[in-house]
Amino acid sequence: DSLGFAIVGLGGYALNQMMPRFADAERAHVSAVVSGNPDKLRKVGDAYGVPRDAQYSYESFADIAQNPNVDAVYIVLPSGLHAEWTERAFAAGKHVLCEKPMALSSAECERMIAVSRRADRKLMIGYRSHFEPHNLKAMDLMAQDAVGPLRLIRSEQASRMEPTTPSENWRVNRALAGGGPLEDTGIYGLQAALYLSREMPESISAAAFRPSGDPRFAEIFAHVASQWRFPSGAVAHLATSYDSLGTNFVHARGATGALIMEPATSYSGQNLVLEGRGADGRTSRDFEPGDPTVQFARQLDHLADAVRDGTSIRTPGEMGLRDVRLIEAIYASAAAGRTVMLNPDGTMKS
Ligand code: NAD
Repeated sequence: DSLGFAIVGLGGYALNQMMPRFADAERAHVSAVVSGNPDKLRKVGDAYGVPRDAQYSYESFADIAQNPNVDAVYIVLPSGLHAEWTERAFAAGKHVLCEKPMALSSAECERMIAVSRRADRKLMIGYRSHFEPHNLKAMDLMAQDAVGPLRLIRSEQASRMEPTTPSENWRVNRALAGGGPLEDTGIYGLQAALYLSREMPESISAAAFRPSGDPRFAEIFAHVASQWRFPSGAVAHLATSYDSLGTNFVHARGATGALIMEPATSYSGQNLVLEGRGADGRTSRDFEPGDPTVQFARQLDHLADAVRDGTSIRTPGEMGLRDVRLIEAIYASAAAGRTVMLNPDGTMKS
């Protein structure tokens, strides 16, 4: 009882990260490939032992409905195409694993969820940190009150975009990438702020910057920062950039301890330290809860289990929608130059 996946979009993340990890999955395999490039389709399909009649072009994708070896479709396309292809996969009667961000607007996310329900098929978002041992350990520690009452969360996800233009690279193209770094890597900090605090922010105030005269930032932002206030009184500061020296950290600081994750949400090499103040002064515990690289295959097995057992998804469409609502609130606050008040579901109070 292994779940057969059709991979849609044979780009960097699919080819270099996810597809090789199917070998580590216990209940998932690649049963079809879908690409707009016929040479790549054949080469990758053959390398993964996918029969020629299960190697689809974007035009012939609808035929996948007749392929009983495909149970689920994995959408690894540019983010602006997630909604359309998720709906096509449901129309073909398949379950969906969709990469993050779920889509570029909450309206698209709501439609994806509605179509999933109508089709009675699972919708899972590729939030791999929910399957990564250090992040899972951090969630446990926070649930066990390891830092005392939470006061401050701080996260930064930054990298430096090479010279490029919106026609050359989808990541700097607004129609395919939204505002840019926040949807790409800043979303990991946003997610961590939520799963470590276990709260929704009641207000957000944000700033976004786009330099003029730089083709990389003709359509997207270079940096986005936001301040959140939680009902408990904790506050968060999240920053993300496409034009800074690389970093990826998350800190959760409470009244009596602090969780330091750096790198926090990378493909491998996570570090998790709990700092506190014991009777003897400063103490620090270093956790090694397991190999971070299991995160890739565990997502696949999780969807397989949920389909087989009819159980719920840990990272469902509703979670993707919640996060896209917060992204919309961040941009709305930055555009208006004022604090945005939020309902508990992440929608903005008018
Ligand atoms: P990529 O540029 O390497 O690959 C994108 C693929 O989509 C390419 O094969 C490209 O040919 C294809 N494509 C189809 N239609 C296209 C169009 N109109 N314009 C441009 N390309 C088109 O990107 P990637 O890094 O593989 O990212 C793909 C998705 O995966 C994105 O949604 C991204 O956010 C997500 N991702 C997730 C992680 C993670 O850790 N979970 C990491 C990287 C990327």
